This record gives sequence, structure tokens and C-alpha cells, in this order.
Amino acid sequence: MTLDMSPEEFRQLGYRAVDLLAEQLASVPNGPARRMLTEEQRQALMYQPLPEQAHSPEALIERCASDILPYPMGNNSPRFFAWVNSPAAPLGILAEMLAAGFNASLAGGDHAGTYVEHGVLNWLKEIVGFPTDAGGILVSGGSMANLTGLAVMRHVQTEGNARTDGLTNESAPMVVYTSDQGHSSIQKAIELLGFGNKHLHRVPVDDQFRMDVSALRAAITADQAAGLRPVCVAASAGTVNTGAIDPLDEIADVCAEAGLWLHVDGAYGAVGILAEQTAGLYRGIERADSISLDPHKWLYVPIECGCTLVRKAQALRDTFSLVPSYLRDDRALPWFAEFGFQQTRGFRALKLWMTIQQIGIQGYRESISRDISLARYLQERIRQRDDFELCAAGPLSITCFRYHPPQASASSLDDLNRRLLEVVQQEGQVFLTSTTLRDEVVLRACIVNFRTMEADLDFLLDTLADAGRRVQGDQS
Ligand SMILES: *Cc1c(COP(=O)(O)O)cnc(C)c1O
Repeated sequence: MTLDMSPEEFRQLGYRAVDLLAEQLASVPNGPARRMLTEEQRQALMYQPLPEQAHSPEALIERCASDILPYPMGNNSPRFFAWVNSPAAPLGILAEMLAAGFNASLAGGDHAGTYVEHGVLNWLKEIVGFPTDAGGILVSGGSMANLTGLAVMRHVQTEGNARTDGLTNESAPMVVYTSDQGHSSIQKAIELLGFGNKHLHRVPVDDQFRMDVSALRAAITADQAAGLRPVCVAASAGTVNTGAIDPLDEIADVCAEAGLWLHVDGAYGAVGILAEQTAGLYRGIERADSISLDPHKWLYVPIECGCTLVRKAQALRDTFSLVPSYLRDDRALPWFAEFGFQQTRGFRALKLWMTIQQIGIQGYRESISRDISLARYLQERIRQRDDFELCAAGPLSITCFRYHPPQASASSLDDLNRRLLEVVQQEGQVFLTSTTLRDEVVLRACIVNFRTMEADLDFLLDTLADAGRRVQGDQS
């Protein structure tokens, strides 16, 4: 028994695998957004006994075809609007396969993968207006990107040496600010980095869910007076709830005055800087000390691919490198392992390298801008209908709304929307999720999808209204 294969067998299995993906691609536009597994199927996948004996590769690929591929999360569908999950660019899927075959560790070293990763990092720096000599690294996603950026912040902002002493040599507890819409991964990072989440202070937002800068100033002053040490603002360039972009330039002023690190969480929204409708809202992003972005969202590469950029490459290296500075060879390209937590690392850069070139930055400008226009279309449709109410229309591609037929009482709406969402998710024709805004349950549709058309948005509202009427019928 061997894991190895003859080139011919590999070729035949590979063709079959590509055929399966091509069939899936063909069925995407008209199929349901997602299909639910039966309880039996779930159990079968979870509790299959440890396979003692060998299985034939052909049979395993067919089992993928029958038991796994038909039950996806749904994000390749044009009618999937949940969270911030985009479809994968088909070329990116093939790149993922090529990268697996290449099977290099991007810990570093003198192989083509290293130069490709540096190449795509340089492109990402240019997109957000960072200099080419800034530091950067590809990571698994926005959460790891936030953790990495905030780890560098900790390294720089501690009075003592965080690497030897942790936080034990600090004169006062350090405080980090984010808006009350800031992503949960910022809190996770603050907890993991040892600050304690009581030192993550949530700044209130304005009526468009952007950080209120005068409240930020007031919080910094109050915390200083209370003997705490403000060290960082983790601003959002596109919140997950509504796509709000904090006033980055004003926040950069505050950070410059008070000696705070500016981290910008642009996991969803940073690349919205490419869209003509919103480019102006990013003024100041280039002043950030660190930025996270998530190519597996709006740049459409297959999951996973996130990125941390740090203005001062040296700070990123000093946070993670175990190579003492006197041993660093400045002639050789340093290993990525010196710039992040991972040692062995996947070749995430290849799918980005291929996808970015396939569509070009001009192509991204158009596709991101188109998603924003589609969100405007959805918002217009909601305004025109008397059975829906628009709750938040952020500058990017997220719409928050409620099913609110004229006869429904305001107090019944949370329950009504929760129940109709459950029905719609079960049926799977469209897929979206909800969130809470100002203590109300709202439906939330995020469009990061080069396949979505206006007709899909009409279908979304009709499907929701239909489920809403049925749920109401049950109630009365
Ligand atoms: C998606 C997202 C994250 C987390 O990124 P993952 O890739 O899911 O780890 C963080 N912040 C924002 C604003 C996001 O949209």
C-alpha cells in the first residue's frame, strides 16, 4: 500500500476532480444557495469509524461527489448574502491546486514561492497607499491579521520588553480603543495578548455607526486621568454589521497627538478604496501603523487568505524574529517565519498572484464598485416596498433591513424577522443572516459576489416576503 500514484493515475483522478468542480460551477447560477444535510448524513460524516483499511482513490473522489460537494456553505451562489463570504474565483481554485502540488513551505527560503509572496504583498501595500518598504505577511484571515497587527502594537507600545517580561514591567495598564461595532477578533486578540478585555474600551458611534471621534478624545483623557495608559486605536475600515468606515484621518490625528498606534481593521472593507463611490472615505488609511485585509473576501480568492501590513517592517520583524539582530544577514531576503507566528506556511500567495493578474486592478475597481451599486439597488427596492423597512445603508455593500408589513406591530418585529429567517435558511433558496442594531433584530445582506445580479436581489425580497407571510399566517 502506498500513497504514491503513477502520473497516469494522478491525471485521471485529477480530470475527474476538475470535472466535478466544473459541474458544480455550471449548477451554481440556478441552484439553491444551499442544501441542508439530513441528521443522518451529519452523523455519518462525524462518526465514521477510523479507517483501518485502504480505500480506493476513485471511490473517495466519488464519495466527495455524493456526500460532501452537494452540501456547501453556499457562498459560491449569487443568492448568498450572509456574513462576509464571497465566491471563489475559478482561477483561484486552480491556483490552490497548483500550490498544493508545489507544496513549498513559505517559512521562507530561496524558491519561487517566496518571491511571489513578496510580489503580492507589494501590490497590497500599493492598494492601501503604504510604501514598498513596509512589512507584510499573508495569514489565514482577518482574525489572524488583527492578532498579528496588534501583537506588533504590543511589542512597540510596551515600556518594558514584552518578549522577555510580558506585561509585568508596565507602569500602568494599557488601553486599546475600538468602536462598539469593532469586530470580535479584536477582542479575542486583546484577550490573547494579555491586555485583558476590560482594557478594550468601546467607543460609541455616530448615527452612521462610525466611531465618534470626540467620544474617543474624551475617553483617552478620562483614562489618562484614571491612571491608565492609552496605547492604540483599532479603527474599522468597513464594519461587519453595516460596513461603516470610521473617520480614519481624524483618528490618525488623535493617535499622532497622543502617541497611540493606529491599527485599521480592513478585513472586509480595505479594498473598497478601489471603488469610485467610496475611495474618498479612506483618507488617512495610509497613516495607519498596521492594517488587516482579507483577500478571501472582496478579492475573491478561495478561503483562506488574510494579510497584515505594518508600516515599519522592522517592528513586525522585531516582534516575531528569533534571529538576533547581530546575526541577521542583510544581503539575504529574511524568512517570512521571522515576520509572523507560523513556521511552516502554505503558498497562499499563488492564488492571489493569479487572480489579481487575471482581472487586474481595473477589474477589481469595476467589480467592487458594482457590488456597491447592487447594494444601492437593493436599498432602493426596500424603500419602494411597503412590506420592508430599511435600517442601515452603509457606504459599502451591506444592507440592514426588516420585514415590516403595514399591519405588524412594532413589538412583534424581532420575533417575526427571526422566525422568517429560520424558514428561509432552512429552505435554502437564498441565504442570509441577521444582526442586532440598536437593540433590534435586523436582516443583513452583504454583497461581495461577482455573480449576483439585480434579479437575485428582487428574488431575495420576494422570498423573504413570502416566508414572512407564511410565518404570520402561523401566528394568527
Ligand atoms: C471578516 C472580518 C474579520 C475576521 O476575518 P476572518 O477572515 O473571518 O478571520 C475581522 N474584521 C472584519 C471587519 C471582518 O469583516
